[in-house]
Amino acid sequence: MKDYKALSDIQEDLNKGIITCENLVNKLLEKISKETSLNAFLETFDESAKLQARLIDEKLLNNSAGKLAGMVIGIKDNIVYRGHKVSASSKMLENFESLFSATVVERLLAEDAIIIGRLNCDEFAMGSSTENSAFGVTKNAANQAYVPGGSSGGSAVAVQAGLCLASLGSDTGGSIRQPASYCGIVGVKPTYGRVSRNGLIAFASSFDQIGPFTHTVEDAALLTEIISGHDRMDSTTSNVEVPSFSQSIFKSDSSKKYKIAYIKDCLDHNGLNEEVRLAVTAKIEELKSDGHIVEPISFPFLDYMVPAYYVLTTAEASSNLARYDGVHFGYRSPNAKNLEETYVFSRSEGFGAEVKRRIMLGTYVLSAGYYDAYYAKAQKVRRVLRDKTNEIFSDFDFILSPTTTNSAFKIGQKSNDPIEMYLEDIFTVQANLVGAPAISIPLGKTANNMPFGLQLMAKAFDEKNLFNFSATLMNKQ
Ligand code: GLN
Repeated sequence: MKDYKALSDIQEDLNKGIITCENLVNKLLEKISKETSLNAFLETFDESAKLQARLIDEKLLNNSAGKLAGMVIGIKDNIVYRGHKVSASSKMLENFESLFSATVVERLLAEDAIIIGRLNCDEFAMGSSTENSAFGVTKNAANQAYVPGGSSGGSAVAVQAGLCLASLGSDTGGSIRQPASYCGIVGVKPTYGRVSRNGLIAFASSFDQIGPFTHTVEDAALLTEIISGHDRMDSTTSNVEVPSFSQSIFKSDSSKKYKIAYIKDCLDHNGLNEEVRLAVTAKIEELKSDGHIVEPISFPFLDYMVPAYYVLTTAEASSNLARYDGVHFGYRSPNAKNLEETYVFSRSEGFGAEVKRRIMLGTYVLSAGYYDAYYAKAQKVRRVLRDKTNEIFSDFDFILSPTTTNSAFKIGQKSNDPIEMYLEDIFTVQANLVGAPAISIPLGKTANNMPFGLQLMAKAFDEKNLFNFSATLMNKQ
């Protein structure tokens, strides 16, 4: 069977009768079972995937199949699916089975996607390398000595290695875009409020968004339009209309000229790999010669973004994770003899080191004596960043930057230095702090043959132009 990279190719072969959904699922399950060294899947949902495949094959015969017929998709292990296990890659939720499905899962299934399994990630989505999973590190399929990025590393590798056509991840500060960059695929963080978080295990609720990983912008656009839209189960979802992003790409004028800004400090950043800098600079020149307006802008706030992000997200995480206490939710220590020990032992044994670090940091920045100095201050910084970013969007369609300062690093290389790991997020957190949509598309490879990506950010709810332009860029490459 072909190694499919686009849903349209699968649907063409389904329609011609060359393949069936059942063949496709069986083939992929076989492939996944051989690729265990990557550690991308924590579990495959064989029974439900095969059942779903047979149902869709029948629907295809009587022309009643949905838009995602033939789409075999994996989900990050923090998105719940009724009757299936979900653990947030944490011992705290090991063997927990969900009683309901996330809204995104329901929307995918309603359009006949097949959910093939759950994918490894950093514990509770905290990390940039998928080394923080309680169930082992996920390896980059381009070279298994390297990390895939994180926290949605399993979701990125599953697509990169052709174990499923697409996957869902979640992005709180870059967890879709950074692994997409490191694995040479497309990753999208939609506008905050576009996609329901109902059924997403919360990390930092005012930042988290679910989004897709794919090989093509067209498939990312289609998945985004299907999972987007108001949901009465999540009051932060927006009523703003969801255009058909995928149709809009087909109809769009690929010669349309855009106004694109790039932040000078990003390209001058001293941590930026020279090959990445050259590739982004060359892309800027190419865009200019294609008739786009591309201008450097000054945005002297780069140094504030990562600190503000880590103060706010750890504060939210410390509150969100309070429920896992061995009483209300989660692992209960068998060693506890009273209530206090139940809390202390369950949380000490159930959470990993990075999650504990964040809970402590978050509790500290929220504590009475420090609230104003840290949490309230960071909220003000967030407001300034949002206002200043929106000022840029009143003049420009997109902000362009590298997605990451480099290609993937080696497994173990940064695990002893949390600050260095946090700086992984330098270019990605802006979109989450301000709520804007952003995409990473493949840009090039460093000399060691590892991929890296280009990031485009648009103003809130302007995914349509983001997809149109990204598709033009990718189809040109
Ligand atoms: N790397 C970032 C962090 O560790 C982003 C995580 C995410 O987006 N879930 O917080």
